[in-house]
Amino acid sequence: MRVLLTGGMGFIGSHTAVVLQEAGHEPVLFDNLSNADRSVASRIERITGRAPQFIEGDIRDGALLEKVLREEAVDAVIHFAGLKAVGESVVKPLEYFDNNLTGTLRLLEAMRASGVKRLIFSSSSTVYGPPAHLPLQETDPTGEATNPYGRTKIMIEEMLADLCRADPEWSAVCLRYFNPIGAHPSGLIGDDPNGIPNNLLPYVSRVANGRLPFLNVYGNDYDTPDGTGVRDYIHVMDLARGHAAALPYAMSHTGWRAVNLGCGRGYSVLEVVAAFEKASGRRVPVKFAPRRTGDIAANWCDPALARGLFGWEAKLTIEDMCRDAWRFESMRAAEAAAQTQS
Ligand code: NAD
Ligand code: UDP
Repeated sequence: MRVLLTGGMGFIGSHTAVVLQEAGHEPVLFDNLSNADRSVASRIERITGRAPQFIEGDIRDGALLEKVLREEAVDAVIHFAGLKAVGESVVKPLEYFDNNLTGTLRLLEAMRASGVKRLIFSSSSTVYGPPAHLPLQETDPTGEATNPYGRTKIMIEEMLADLCRADPEWSAVCLRYFNPIGAHPSGLIGDDPNGIPNNLLPYVSRVANGRLPFLNVYGNDYDTPDGTGVRDYIHVMDLARGHAAALPYAMSHTGWRAVNLGCGRGYSVLEVVAAFEKASGRRVPVKFAPRRTGDIAANWCDPALARGLFGWEAKLTIEDMCRDAWRFESMRAAEAAAQTQS
């Protein structure tokens, strides 16, 4: 199958491209490189033995998207492209609305014009807002995001639901990711954000490697077993396989669906730090800091629907996640050192 991956050069998109290629599909990566490096395509080639097709472009360029969808004979779209930093979205809401909402609108128009009506969308557990109970199920209420980023995810889910109601030929599967971490086991691709990381794992990796001095643990007075925040971490390779598993479903069903992708259990910040120290053999010094605005105490999902609909479940452990994140960080640091020397 020929699958357009908007944002395909990014963290989750690149791992999904690997899994799709290995399953015999032909991913076409469409990305404006605003948060990805051009070298990702050749790294994917080193892993799979085949260079993925990469088209540099912006999802807000509807004419280009329509041309690509037609010329590349695309069967389905997986829509990863978007801005994703919660804190930045509070400071730059218009940029987030433009990139994520206008971008999605242009994409949907281009898909409609070219007759491609199969879409998998990168949604997020953030659509649930503060949970009334755990684990979170797809039937739980959404719509209470605490920031503009989260609101774009809610609005896009609703946009897709309206579209499916209006035109019964559409299929839109909203995958609600919990906390994707880890890296490809080769260490060639992973999560390498620009600047100081916002997310826990890239931050912990850099502390373990001495690039940052210590981890700020945001809050140790939550109502959780050790007082620190609890999240449902999922290995990015499991998540990537979740997309491959959702694809046949999207092709053979119409209508709107939201599906959780997570492991179905939570780990606290201190448990993640301990697992990372064990995997890396390095110390990760921590300092307790005040709670981060907008954070919730705990969330994890019920992943039963994904098992039922796609026959998918997460297999990899927190140890696998930390080991692979550490391998990626170590290789990235070694590459950077080699480049400085040459
Ligand atoms: P990422 O930033 O690594 O990947 C997003 C990619 O989209 C980047 O390569 C970027 O260059 C590209 N992009 C951004 N705006 C674009 C535009 N206008 N046109 C073309 N390309 C554009 O992020 P990721 O972690 O891989 O996340 C992928 C998707 O999953 C995002 O939509 C994100 O909101 C969602 N998501 C991520 C997480 C997470 O923790 N990583 C959790 C829930 C949901
Ligand atoms: N966290 C932390 N220090 C950091 C980054 C994150 O203590 O530098 C905590 C955060 O408060 C939350 C968990 O780690 O409890 C996961 O945060 P992340 O930003 O990775 O994901 P979120 O669940 O907020 O989307």
